[in-house]
Order: sequence, then structure tokens, then C-alpha cells
Amino acid sequence: MTSGDVILVTGGSGLVGKAIEHVINTEPEGSRFGRKPGEAWIFAGSKDGDLRDTEATRKLFEKHKPTHVIHLAALVGGLFKNMKYKATFFRDNLVINDNVLHTAHLQKTKKVVSCLSTCVFPDKVTYPLDETKIHLGLPHQSNFGYAHAKRMVDIQNRAYKDEFGDNFTSAIPTNVFGKHDNFDLEDSHVIPGLIHKCYLAKKNGTPFVVSGTGKPLRQFIYSEDLAKLFIWQLREYDNVEPVILSVCEDEEVSIKEVADTIVKAVGFEGEYTFDTTRADGQFRKPASNKKLMSLIGDFKFTPFEEALKETVDWFTKNYHNARI
Ligand code: NDP
Repeated sequence: MTSGDVILVTGGSGLVGKAIEHVINTEPEGSRFGRKPGEAWIFAGSKDGDLRDTEATRKLFEKHKPTHVIHLAALVGGLFKNMKYKATFFRDNLVINDNVLHTAHLQKTKKVVSCLSTCVFPDKVTYPLDETKIHLGLPHQSNFGYAHAKRMVDIQNRAYKDEFGDNFTSAIPTNVFGKHDNFDLEDSHVIPGLIHKCYLAKKNGTPFVVSGTGKPLRQFIYSEDLAKLFIWQLREYDNVEPVILSVCEDEEVSIKEVADTIVKAVGFEGEYTFDTTRADGQFRKPASNKKLMSLIGDFKFTPFEEALKETVDWFTKNYHNARI
């Protein structure tokens, strides 16, 4: 990358986009993850252009003339929303991705890093997940619209490379959490949902009830760590093959450990139980970060407890402006 580069981050107003903005603005200038002299970073949300609309996408690219794109924008939602709106999740994401990638191609953008998700992996697969297993079987029924649309990005990246030589690639994060997340009680991911529940339990003096047994294991990545990994991938990784962006498999945590850590961070001292009549979901779906670690060299992930405490503190302070 060189001076004068313009990096457009689609989905720049969301959880991951805001974290990239924070890292670029707070890491020392010129450092591995900091802003390079002469670089311009543009963080675009949907109000800057609806990427389902080809003309709006063209205008956004015309306006900023990005040399590089980190493509995060997506219709994102929890399990319930994914199950209910499969066609919408499929079509909106397919169209957003097609508009962004084709416009980037037409405008000769030097590089695009698009964001997939571990949901793209087959439902029936051998663990741990790794970058070679994306297309080995059907994704889970519950989110097959979202998952299939995301999978197609990998196909598009390869097709644009083979036909036109475009430098498009993708990242596959595991479960992300952090400041600026969606903390909606009905339609959020597990960590922001539990933080909000626990916050209300403390405020209202009511029990904190966690859905399920608390036994399933997950890999969580702090949005600010993920932001650094996206910046690394944009600057230092030139290959169409996706990279899983995750903590190590040994760092899986149980939902009970998540809830315990939240209880501590919130300072909740009331009744705390598990509603075992609610479904648990898959027990575990570990993903390997071997490829990432072999390429990036030295990288320190923020300890889970510290990252969760920062998230809880942010939520408590920003309760009235947060997405709830
Ligand atoms: P958020 O829901 O926090 O943000 C989504 C972003 O996409 C927002 O900036 C939103 O803009 C934008 N967006 C949505 N629809 C459109 C549209 N039609 N046109 C333009 N912009 C649009 O999501 P995350 O930050 O959590 O997700 C970022 C990426 O990471 C996504 O691709 C997601 O699939 C992926 N991912 C997320 C995981 C997670 O645990 N959160 C796990 C794995 C992958 P606005 O808010 O302004 O409307």
C-alpha cells in the first residue's frame, strides 16, 4: 500500500467497522495497525448508500474512488431472524456482495477483503474447521440463506481472479463481540444479549436467566483484535484463499463462563440461573487459526475477561445511545 491510498470500509457504522475506525485512529501512526502517512480511511454506513442498489454503490465508489475496500456490510441477525427471513438474508446479501465486488472490479480497485462468517461451513463436517472445508457440504438449515450468500463471495473472488486477475480475498471471523454491537434482547448474538439481560437484572433487581444449559463452547474474538487482523489482511496478505480470523481452538469458552464473566463485570449479585428448557444449539464448532498464526507472526489477543469488561463498561456508559 502506498501514500494516497483510499480505503473504503463498507459496514463502517457497525460493530466491526467501528472497531477498525477505533484502531486506525488510536494505534501509533505508521505502526503495523495504525494509519500510514497519506492514507485516507472512509467508513460508510447504509445512510451513505444502500449497497443493495447498484447505482448507489456506483455513486459511493465514484465519490471516494477507493484504491482498497474492506467489505463488511451485510444483513446480519441472530438465529430467529435468520430462520424467519431466509429469502431476504439470501437475496440482500447476494446483491450487496455482487454490487460491491462488481463495482470494485469496474473501478479497478486494487484490493478487496470481504467478510464471511463461520456460518458458511458445512453442517456435517470434521472439526476443527479450516479454510479448505467451506464448500464440502450444505450449511446448517437455520441460516442457509445467509450462509449460501456469504459462500458465494469466495466463488466470486476466485472467478474475478481467474477471469480478470482481480486481487479479491475474504476473511472468516468466528463470533465477534465488543463496543457498538447490537444489544437488542430478542435479536442479538449471545454476548451482547446476555450483557443487556444482566444489566437489566441488576437495574430492576430481577433474576438473571441464561437460556440453555451453559455447556456449549464457542470461540469469541474481540472486535478490536479482529479490526487489527483485517488491517493486517488488507496490507500484508495477497491471496484469494480465505483466512479464518480467530483465537486458537484451545481458547473456546463455555456459555457458562461467558455468563460468569458478565455477572462479574456487571457487578450483579442477584439470583442467576440457567433455563435448561431452552435449546442449546451445536455443542461446539471449533475453527483452526493455524493459517493466520503461521502468516501473521507475533499477535497478542486481548484476554477474554479484559475484552468483556471493556464491552460491559462501554455498554453501561452508552446505554441510551447503544443499539438496544
Ligand atoms: P453490524 O450489524 O454491526 O453492522 C452491519 C453493517 O452493515 C452496518 O454498518 C450497516 O449499516 C451495514 N449495512 C447493512 N445493510 C446495508 C446496506 N443495504 N447498504 C449499506 N450498508 C449496509 O454487523 P457486524 O459489524 O457484526 O458485521 C460485520 C461483518 O462481519 C458482516 O459481514 C457479518 O456478516 C460479519 N460477521 C459478524 C459476526 C458477528 O459475530 N457479529 C461473526 C462473523 C462474521 P447501518 O448500520 O448504517 O445501517
